[in-house]
Amino acid sequence: MRSGSRARILSAGALLLCAACESPPTVHPFDGFVMGTVAELKVVSTDAGAAEAALRDAYDELARIELLATNYSDLSDVSRLNADPDGNVVVSPETKNIFRIAFEVQAASDSAFCPTLGAAMRAWGFPDEPRVPDPALLRAALKKEEYDLGGVAKGFGVDRAADVLARAGPCLVNVGGDLAARGTRPDGKNWLIGVQDPRDPSRLFVTLRLPDGRAVATSGDYQRFAMVDGVRYHHILDPRTGQPARGVRSVSVIAPTCALADAWATAAFVLGPEKGLAALEAQSTLEGVLVEEDAEGRLVLHETSGFAAYVEERTP
Ligand code: AMP
Ligand code: MG
Repeated sequence: MRSGSRARILSAGALLLCAACESPPTVHPFDGFVMGTVAELKVVSTDAGAAEAALRDAYDELARIELLATNYSDLSDVSRLNADPDGNVVVSPETKNIFRIAFEVQAASDSAFCPTLGAAMRAWGFPDEPRVPDPALLRAALKKEEYDLGGVAKGFGVDRAADVLARAGPCLVNVGGDLAARGTRPDGKNWLIGVQDPRDPSRLFVTLRLPDGRAVATSGDYQRFAMVDGVRYHHILDPRTGQPARGVRSVSVIAPTCALADAWATAAFVLGPEKGLAALEAQSTLEGVLVEEDAEGRLVLHETSGFAAYVEERTP
């Protein structure tokens, strides 16, 4: 065989090998259900096999964090702490980190964020069977310091999943509207994310650009609630009263981590339009919007000074 044809055969072989593993950078998606809600993961890669493996690992990471922080399983770190508050319960480094962030935001939000509302949440029957509790029962529950990391653990899980997924390429992790972005889309533009209209969650009221290393989380009164005699009882409690916090319908926070975005969205929701906006503005790394509904059913937006820079499009 002449060396020229051997070279041609060799390069044809190399091309075939590359065709098996390499394609132009494309978005590889994965949908699942975790942390009580839908998860949508996307990663940009030229290697479909590597992308799929990373998507599975990232999803497993979400499930792993859920198992540490959930109140559903007696085996979770949180449940073991609650069962034996005075004992020497050993918890994972991740759980310690979630608690660190929770206490940090609690201190910075004048205790609007409160990770010890577990008994009060149970008195309200959240998440499975919401009901208005007996006032004496609720008062007693409020005095108990039972951990509930539901206001921050999802965001923390999103950060961890994004770290895992980013090993394969630029990515976007979305768990029930709490998102983290790494890198950009294949066209080099920022990831775009829609924020739900709290009056009609099937609509978006704003589309945001999420640059590399930014995260966003939303707390809303439409996520978990019960209607009793025309009153909406939802799952974000004012720690001072144990009642669902009133004043805003949703809050979205943009932050360097989704754990911070998640905890601050809950905190600002409790603080309400004025104090919530001031608290977000006081944190130099946070931007956000608090959404109120006026008497005529129109949305009134309270935005931090840097929020508009993230807005791609507003829905009229
Ligand atoms: P989010 O959807 O992030 O606003 O979190 C709501 C969840 O956080 C609830 O389902 C509770 O588990 C928990 N939670 C409720 N009220 C508070 C609060 N004031 N501070 C911290 N966590 C809360
Ligand atoms: Mg939250």
